[in-house]
Amino acid sequence: MANTEALYLDDASLRELTTEVLSSQSITSLSEEEKSLAKNIPTEDIALTMRQTIFYAQGGGQPSDTGAIGPTGQDATFSVSLVRKTPDGRYLHFGKYVDATPFTAGQLVVQKIDDSKRNYHSRLHTAGHIVGLAMQLLMPDRKKVKANHFPNEASMEYKGLLYNEDKPVIQEKVNELVRQDLKILISWSEGGADGEEGRSHDGRTRIASIGGLDYNPCGGTHVPRTGLVGSIVIRKISRQKGISRVSYDVSPEVER
Ligand SMILES: [Zn+2]
Repeated sequence: MANTEALYLDDASLRELTTEVLSSQSITSLSEEEKSLAKNIPTEDIALTMRQTIFYAQGGGQPSDTGAIGPTGQDATFSVSLVRKTPDGRYLHFGKYVDATPFTAGQLVVQKIDDSKRNYHSRLHTAGHIVGLAMQLLMPDRKKVKANHFPNEASMEYKGLLYNEDKPVIQEKVNELVRQDLKILISWSEGGADGEEGRSHDGRTRIASIGGLDYNPCGGTHVPRTGLVGSIVIRKISRQKGISRVSYDVSPEVER
């Protein structure tokens, strides 16, 4: 089975791409493992794979892109509601045809992703890195255990106890990092096993860094500079079973 090349890993600015269809199949015809990735998708939907993709596949705490795909030179005829990456590197674009003939293998199609959703998800995800860097600078011994960058539930979790008094301190450091408008740098290092998190591909691991100050294996999409995230609000600090959660949010719209 041919693999998909994920172009967003090297160029997160792509919003439209012409590429070739590899397969268009019913969800019922997928392997059991692949079906398990489509849990909340109607069974009459279709799984589409293509040579390349600009769609972010859900993982690493970041939601999937949505968008539309159509034959070249025509309106979009396939709406994409979810994209998942299989363990063997296929990118399944789940969705449905809108009164249209299914694509055939080898056909050229145009992918378009929902731009405002991608920008919002990238800002939320990048904000997680900024909160993480603030924590690293303020409390270098704290071990991060979990990250979630979904809308309305974005948070970073740390081993040990944090208190409400820590909130304004973290907020101040986060504001400073946004004000500094630091570059988000993406690089690749050798090694690392391919995983669901999407950090590693073909024996290389993708590294995201804020201005060279930190070093995080990451498969997500980012905005190019911290200033583009806009204001980040540290919503609350909560504790459970020795783990502290720092909840944060960004505005759904970019402030100008
Ligand atoms: Zn990231």
